[in-house]
Amino acid sequence: MSNVTAKQLSGVIGVSVDKLLEQLRNAGVKVDSADDPISDDDKMKLLESLRSSHGKDIKAGGPKKITLRRKSKTEIKVSGSSGRNTTSRSINVEVRKKKTYVRRSAVDAEAAVEEAKEAAAAVENEAVVEEVVTDEVITEEVVVEKEVSAEELAAQQKAEEEARIAAQEKAAKEAEEAKLKAEQQQLILEQEATRQEVQLARLEKEAMLAAQKAIQEAAKPAPVPATTPDVAAAEVASKAKADDKGRHGKGKQKAGQNTRYGRKEIHVKPGGKQQGRRGKGKGKRNARAAAIVSDNVHGFERPTAPVVYNVEIPEVISVSALAQKVAAKAGDIIKVLMQMGTMATINQVLDQDTAILVVEEMGHTALATSENDFERDLQKNMVVNEEHLVTRPAVVTIMGHVDHGKTSLLDHIRKTRVASGEAGGITQHIGAYHVETDQGVITFLDTPGHAAFSAMRARGAQATDIVILVVAADDGVMPQTKEAIQHAKAAGVPLIVAVNKCDKENADPDRVRNELSAEEVIPEEWGGEHMFVNVSAHSGEGIDALLEAIVLQSEVMELQASDQGLAKGIVVEASLDKGRGPVATVLVQSGLLEKGQMLLAGTEFGRIRAMYDESSQAIKSAGPSIPVVVLGLSGTPNAGDEVFVVENERKAREIAQTRETRIRETRLAAQQKAKLQGMFDAMTEGDVADLNLLVKCDVKGSSEALNDALLKLSTDEVRVKLVSTGVGGINESDINLAAASNTLVIGFNVRADAAAKRIAGDYGIDIRYYSVIYDIIDDVKAAMSGLLKPETKETIIGLAEVKDVFKSPKFGSVAGSIVIEGTVKRGKPIRVLRDNVVIYEGELESLRRFKDDVDEVRNGTECGIAVKNYNDVKPGDQIEVFDRVEVARTLE
Ligand code: GDP
Ligand code: MG
Repeated sequence: MSNVTAKQLSGVIGVSVDKLLEQLRNAGVKVDSADDPISDDDKMKLLESLRSSHGKDIKAGGPKKITLRRKSKTEIKVSGSSGRNTTSRSINVEVRKKKTYVRRSAVDAEAAVEEAKEAAAAVENEAVVEEVVTDEVITEEVVVEKEVSAEELAAQQKAEEEARIAAQEKAAKEAEEAKLKAEQQQLILEQEATRQEVQLARLEKEAMLAAQKAIQEAAKPAPVPATTPDVAAAEVASKAKADDKGRHGKGKQKAGQNTRYGRKEIHVKPGGKQQGRRGKGKGKRNARAAAIVSDNVHGFERPTAPVVYNVEIPEVISVSALAQKVAAKAGDIIKVLMQMGTMATINQVLDQDTAILVVEEMGHTALATSENDFERDLQKNMVVNEEHLVTRPAVVTIMGHVDHGKTSLLDHIRKTRVASGEAGGITQHIGAYHVETDQGVITFLDTPGHAAFSAMRARGAQATDIVILVVAADDGVMPQTKEAIQHAKAAGVPLIVAVNKCDKENADPDRVRNELSAEEVIPEEWGGEHMFVNVSAHSGEGIDALLEAIVLQSEVMELQASDQGLAKGIVVEASLDKGRGPVATVLVQSGLLEKGQMLLAGTEFGRIRAMYDESSQAIKSAGPSIPVVVLGLSGTPNAGDEVFVVENERKAREIAQTRETRIRETRLAAQQKAKLQGMFDAMTEGDVADLNLLVKCDVKGSSEALNDALLKLSTDEVRVKLVSTGVGGINESDINLAAASNTLVIGFNVRADAAAKRIAGDYGIDIRYYSVIYDIIDDVKAAMSGLLKPETKETIIGLAEVKDVFKSPKFGSVAGSIVIEGTVKRGKPIRVLRDNVVIYEGELESLRRFKDDVDEVRNGTECGIAVKNYNDVKPGDQIEVFDRVEVARTLE
């Protein structure tokens, strides 16, 4: 097949017949029609012509190419550890590949440049794409060689050249683009790094800088895009093959920093030696082998400057935890402690001050924190809760003087307003309940006393929105009425006055108004700001008006809470039930409390096994301001403890344990202090009598109120000591404890079990039962009086003046004296005064009148006085005779 027609040739090389004819004519071959034969010579001419005119033929038909794009996304997890926690982050890597198959025909330089631009713009990871593109060019060559016969060499070579030029242009563009990309990437990573721990950030930065340098180096030798393709084409074409090889090597060099997968090898040290080796590598395999060798050299460099951490120090922290926080070994911490004169073990718990000293000694910055991380987390959770705010019922506490009708009022409201679920009504005492009135829902808190109200408040938990002050119309303002006003004012809670017992004949509601005005609780009708409602707990009169007043007040207060999300609340009271274990009444304050959730209350936690409302009905969930009884906690929490729902048991346990540790540590520290204080007290005050008490109560709230009241009874001479306090019946171990420490056992609304009674009888221990706190206090006061030392009062009964002093063989010095006041009696204590200053205290040994011993000598009479063991009496001294009388004392 020496001759082919122009048409045939055009079919083989893939250009249009017209174009081929034109090209042939340009090459000086005479062809007239498509059917003219083309000889091998003609072909060579065409080839020559194309070679020389290459690049000029811009206007030849558009580039013929097929472009395939592929985008793949991968995620790389990078983990770094610094200090106490390991941080990991993920980097999204998007690799865009573009394969361009260039047809061997009709690709001119300009089109190739266009294409290169496009390709480069799409390049994310230049290393990978570069390889791919190169591969494609090679593949294409193979294809072309197969297809094209020797006669078609001219066209083929032209295509080859053109493809290479395109690749060259592309490579140049890509190098530029890649450099830009790398810089951008570095910027992003740097931003990320600032958020990382310092050490990690620096390592990364170093790696990034090195990468950038490498990229720059790699980019340098790449050909600069030609200003006009024509100029570039001729010179590039001859070197195409060689450059292609070179690019391989350099491509891999970059890949040394940016791996095939676009990942940065932050630990690989960017060293010139390795780079050189990689640069010389001829192919992928060589480069990879070099990379493997270099991977053995770890890139970690010791920090040149000390790393300073900001360390948060909680109230107590163990040595090992502290070590983790400063990224040191526990041994180092112990060493520092030893230098400070403290021998510590790895598990030892340090107080905040010591820990701060240690941290600063090690050159870090210490930040004292009062809350631990978990609790802050908890608080954070709660913020989310503020999204679905709804109006919530008011929580009301009833306060007032004893016997003014608080309980009666609550009972009346409960009996008439609470839908009772069980036959026989309320079966158990629950410290809170809610009523549904025509106006709205109100929640009543039945706190056992004012002290409990304040105790709750002292823990920072304010459960009450409104205080109802009950004052009996027949009794007026009493001490506890004033106390209640103070408590409400201190809490900043609005006060509504219920003037009770208005059904009584001697009721005088106006007197109550008058007396309260004196306490700055002024009725609205008198121009003040407090609502007064006349009620009767017996007849039920005015109770609707009272409820109305409460609803009105709560509307003014615009009480809101979220009724969704994790619940938060407060423990109203808790007790230990024999059958059911710890039982806690919880007032939900926000969120939705649901059965089965994990609850954390103070230092106790547990999954809610069962939940009941105030009428002992099992319920599944409770919203804001609704009190519920929950079962399932690990122990009885304190009244006023905050309650949180947490996601899982592990977290709940962790927080509970941290809190417990903290409480234990605090208590230990207090005990240590108390011990010292006790020693000082004993040294300065002489002996102090202790009244030991063991107090058991029905509910935690009463227990706290009572304990506070009892401890306050302590005086300088008699100290009330609570040997043990608790909730529940009096049992055998209580009695054993009491017996060991000579203790009075008090049961408040609880009784001793049979075994306790029996051994109490054996030991002769006094168990007293009470149901009124004030009775306990009176009795304890009486008991303390019994422990007071009787007071001795002195009365001077006579005074004698010494006139002369005789020596008596039997008594030593005998003072001849005259009684100037009262009567001098024998056997009584005396004092010898000289110039009105006591110089001796002793006892009168012998009293004589003339030669006779007498029992007493009256005023104005002379006598002889001998003082036991004292001979220094002088004329002019006075002898004072006195009497000591013991008087039994009471407190106050
Ligand atoms: P608390 O100590 O404040 O709880 O008072 P109580 O509720 O125990 O009531 C003390 C006494 O006052 C009881 O004997 C009640 O029967 C009586 N009482 C309470 N409210 C009224 C009332 O509205 N009218 C009359 N006549 N007596 C009342
Ligand atoms: Mg009462």
